[in-house]
Amino acid sequence: MKNPIINLIEHIFFVDIGEVNTDLFKWKKPNSVLFRMDIIAARAEANEDYFRRQERSNVRIMFIKKNNLVFTIASDESIQFQLLEALLERIMDEFLENYGMFTFSITGLSNLFEGFQEVVLKLFETVQHERVTWVLVPCKLCKISHAMCINKTLIEKAPSFPMSIVYLHKGIGLIVYLDAHMKVRGVEPVTITG
Ligand SMILES: [Zn+2]
Repeated sequence: MKNPIINLIEHIFFVDIGEVNTDLFKWKKPNSVLFRMDIIAARAEANEDYFRRQERSNVRIMFIKKNNLVFTIASDESIQFQLLEALLERIMDEFLENYGMFTFSITGLSNLFEGFQEVVLKLFETVQHERVTWVLVPCKLCKISHAMCINKTLIEKAPSFPMSIVYLHKGIGLIVYLDAHMKVRGVEPVTITG
């Protein structure tokens, strides 16, 4: 299927970059609330090189740690986690490429990152053209096909094929098998726990 292009500025609540006790960069949707407690929790819980997610009523949060920095993004529930992951990954790469040489523990650097606002806004769009693919997943339980977003990194870094991903929706888990060309090779309902 053709990639739908979503106007992410309407769906992303904030992007935050910081160390445990230091704020480095923040983009916030105008008039949206900033979830300070969520940012503090993300910074405390983030794992190096692993995207963690949190979900509650109409809020999705994804975060990851890299070089002692925690990158956090929050959106409404209409945005699939794979799109958030692709976006956060690009934000992380761009930030480290531009500012990775600085020692972040020094406070009073807030002006330094002002230019990054523009970079983030641009990534909202380019990531959708360059870093994700959408596929249709036939679902026997809903009797329709669901549009599922895949972060291309997942395919690029897959150790073997077919690789699998779980698509969760309406209390249903579907395990979806994808080949190296991001074609759906199989779909099965899967039991969920945790
Ligand atoms: Zn379904």
